Amino acid sequence: MRKFLYVFLLGIGSVFQASGQQRCATVEYQKQHNPQYSIQDIQFENWISKQHVAPRIKSFDTEGSRAATYVIPVVFHVIHNGEAPGTGTNIPDAQLISQINVLNKDFRRLNTDAGQTPPEFLSVAGNLDIEFVLAKQDPEGLATTGIERVQGTKTGWTLADNLEFKSLSYWPSQDYLNIWVINFQDPSNFIGYAQFPESGLPGLENSSSDPLTDGVVLNYRDVGSIDDGPFDLEPQFNKGRTATHEIGHFFGLRHIWGDVSSCSGTYYVSDTPPQSSETTGCPSHPQVSCSNNKMFQNYLDYTNDACMNLFTKGQVSRMEIILQNSPRRASLTTSLGSQDPAPVANDLGLREILNPGTTSCGGTIAPSLEVRNYGTNAINTARIQFKVNGVVQEVKDVALSLNPLDIASINFNAINLPSPSSTTISFEILLTNGVADGKASDNIITHISEVPVVASIPFFEFFDTTPADWVIQNPDQRTTWTNVSAPNGVTGNKAMYINFYDYEEKGVVDRLLTPVVNLDGATAALLRFDYSHANFPSSTLIDGLKVLIVNDCNPDLSAGIEVFNKFGSALATSTTTANAFTPSSASQWKTETISLNPFIGSGNLQVVFVGQNGNGNNLFLDNVFVFAGDLTDAALKEIKSPSPVVNKNNLTPVIRMRNEGSIPITEVKVETKINGIVTGTKPFTNLTLQTGEDLELTLDPIVLNNGTNEITFTLLEPNGSVDEAPSNNSLTRKVVVNLFNETIPVRQNFNVSFQDQWTIVSQGQMLNWELTTTNKGTSLVYRAFSNTSKTDEAWLVSPVLDFSKSIKASLFFDVSYALSPKGTERLKLLSSIDGGNTFTQTHFDQSGNQFSSGSSTAAWIPVSDPDWREQFINLNSLTGEQNVRLAFVAINDNGNNLYLDDIELFNDDNPSPPETTDLYSVYTTSFDQIKITFNLTEKETSRLQIYNTMGQVVLDNLLADNLNQTYTIDMSNQRAGIYILRLQVANRIESTKVFITR
Ligand SMILES: [Zn+2]
Repeated sequence: MRKFLYVFLLGIGSVFQASGQQRCATVEYQKQHNPQYSIQDIQFENWISKQHVAPRIKSFDTEGSRAATYVIPVVFHVIHNGEAPGTGTNIPDAQLISQINVLNKDFRRLNTDAGQTPPEFLSVAGNLDIEFVLAKQDPEGLATTGIERVQGTKTGWTLADNLEFKSLSYWPSQDYLNIWVINFQDPSNFIGYAQFPESGLPGLENSSSDPLTDGVVLNYRDVGSIDDGPFDLEPQFNKGRTATHEIGHFFGLRHIWGDVSSCSGTYYVSDTPPQSSETTGCPSHPQVSCSNNKMFQNYLDYTNDACMNLFTKGQVSRMEIILQNSPRRASLTTSLGSQDPAPVANDLGLREILNPGTTSCGGTIAPSLEVRNYGTNAINTARIQFKVNGVVQEVKDVALSLNPLDIASINFNAINLPSPSSTTISFEILLTNGVADGKASDNIITHISEVPVVASIPFFEFFDTTPADWVIQNPDQRTTWTNVSAPNGVTGNKAMYINFYDYEEKGVVDRLLTPVVNLDGATAALLRFDYSHANFPSSTLIDGLKVLIVNDCNPDLSAGIEVFNKFGSALATSTTTANAFTPSSASQWKTETISLNPFIGSGNLQVVFVGQNGNGNNLFLDNVFVFAGDLTDAALKEIKSPSPVVNKNNLTPVIRMRNEGSIPITEVKVETKINGIVTGTKPFTNLTLQTGEDLELTLDPIVLNNGTNEITFTLLEPNGSVDEAPSNNSLTRKVVVNLFNETIPVRQNFNVSFQDQWTIVSQGQMLNWELTTTNKGTSLVYRAFSNTSKTDEAWLVSPVLDFSKSIKASLFFDVSYALSPKGTERLKLLSSIDGGNTFTQTHFDQSGNQFSSGSSTAAWIPVSDPDWREQFINLNSLTGEQNVRLAFVAINDNGNNLYLDDIELFNDDNPSPPETTDLYSVYTTSFDQIKITFNLTEKETSRLQIYNTMGQVVLDNLLADNLNQTYTIDMSNQRAGIYILRLQVANRIESTKVFITR
């Protein structure tokens, strides 16, 4: 359902695109960044309905006659493209100052166009006693213009880039109204958006609105007013009212039509008339909607800037409730940011705890601290107290030589932080220049320093539970790594996963950190882990997994070295699915082996698994293994050739091996065994196969018997010694030699003996395709319901098929399958063009509900036609080939039974070919054509003759390999009239009259 909503929103966006620039993306932003959007909306409105506007008194105004003004410090972050200040996207200071002027007029109803408010709305026009000021001191307390200019990492931005451009420049949102000015090139053509003031409200503490993204975003050509200068502005949005509108949202206002296309949309303000939708352009008053005159002059409509001129009193009191109660709005009104810096004489400030950081590997640590002289006097001495877990550790008198704004670092006596531990580190300035420090607010600094566990090596983590000694970093405090059941070869297996499927905030990361390991002194080392992921069918919902190696418990993970990075299709270990993905068996996992040799000697290390959300599908991680020392492990990963069914007795096998050990593999032997007898051992030398790398090995030719052969390949003596993990050294395959061949078209409905031509072969020890009776007569069944040997494969392989005479080709087959809660079967259709030696193309690969007809907890048996699904496969990629083989491969998950029937190959690629239930049918579809569609039980050569009424033969053709084809006969050169078709079909001769009219 959620995915549907997402697509729906995209749809709206593309509709908007046709109508030019769109005012506001606030609703889209809130929805994209908040999966609980609608629930929290209701909670928010419940909360706001219980608030009232408190009378405000200037604290220093003893008369109490006038309310205090809400003063809001604003910082503009101009994210530009490298132009000189004042040009292009790097818009001039004057344009930003103009924007401040517009805000101060519009909110206070001092706008010069206030007189254009229609008389009927004058009684509800409101003014808010607010003042926007460019910030005068920055977060450090230093003087500022309130304008930050940063060159962007992209030249144009979209809603999805929200986190990226905001993290380029940001001031604490509890103290500043951040306004990012960007080149906003969203596909939906929006020009601005705001973050709603929900976060931190009672009942909404878990609201997702992130302080690091709080603020307003404006397109650079929609900032400031044309009244203040010749700025480069969009004509319809040239009076700075994009910011007025968005800051209205920032203070809790909704669109005036309630964001619903009806008269019942709730706007939550009583003095604005209902209207059914937004107003664009600049209509003349009155405009009627919902039996009222629309208030399209309201700043929260979508009209052009020149046609907006009021907030209502109801809107003003709603904004006041927010300004008084919403934590990150109320704090703006008391922020020092709106005041000039007021340096005092003796003011040493604590900037940052340098050591220990928020994480460290512990042991003996020399604490250090960065200080700065924020006062007007030079500072020569300071007394600083250092506490560990609230207990005074050291009081240090420091000699300094700091002129105003100078920075220095100060060291303290070493402490010991054990592993693991969590320690509160704090510093406090007690004296500056021998007297009490002049400003208390920057005299204390504190943070918690974590020391992770040190693990002994080798270590295994199977994730039977969330490991207590690992660290989960969840920067947005939302969806993150959790422990779940995830089948992976072991009964009741569990793994860590991230629910990307339901996680809408694209681009965010969640990290999983191992305990500390130290590889120093080892001769070799490796990391191995299993991962599982399926893509969601969308080119824009792409998830990723990265693996970093971080040194010395550095809290700055950007300093880590990347050893693995896979996104989208490269990350997929299973078929793309629109359902929430969970692996059903070990076959849907991949094992990755990575050499850690480059990190030997690097001291303390942590492995960091970084999941990057693309809102696609779920990501799983299991069986993390860190090993130090020489490990020789050659793994046989795949028999590339021969496949289970081949068309010759003499062939050359090809296998693929991987180095899953910690040291390079330089040599290996491969033993080939056929039907229990060793037929050869081939040595390979002078290899340089590094950890994690694959290598294809071509073996000596072998000779197979007709019928079924069992072939086993075994890797022996890697590097001339013993393989330390021999369980992955062998693979066995049953290979059937079947030389039967025929030319398409071909039909196979299993109603007559077929096993001379078609081959059934299972690679497991258990069940296989079997004949059974269904509503279609005789069908094939794969009884997965009772097959507990998961990942077994059962192959149904065609004869060698000649496509060389075909210009077009396609395949139909019927499949019947029911979903079972026990497991999910997978069906593949593969093709070979070398008679089955290798299968290189995949034409169909679906699992579970992608091809099921229903669900059942009992063993599935189809009883009627709706229990079957017909599949069409275009096979044009195989035309011209003489040695084609097709293989239907069922992969068992012990779920439910899978049936196949009515496999039919056509010399055509029409997905809905003409059909007839008779042997043939003759018909005309135009004045110039006769069509004949055949439906023979077996292929044969037919003869077609056409006579005119004079008895002359117009056409006489032999139709070779005639089965299911539709022939089109061009009659455009013949006269209109009656023709006789004479067909010799299936040992019968029949005649039909056809009328050609023009
Ligand atoms: Zn809006």
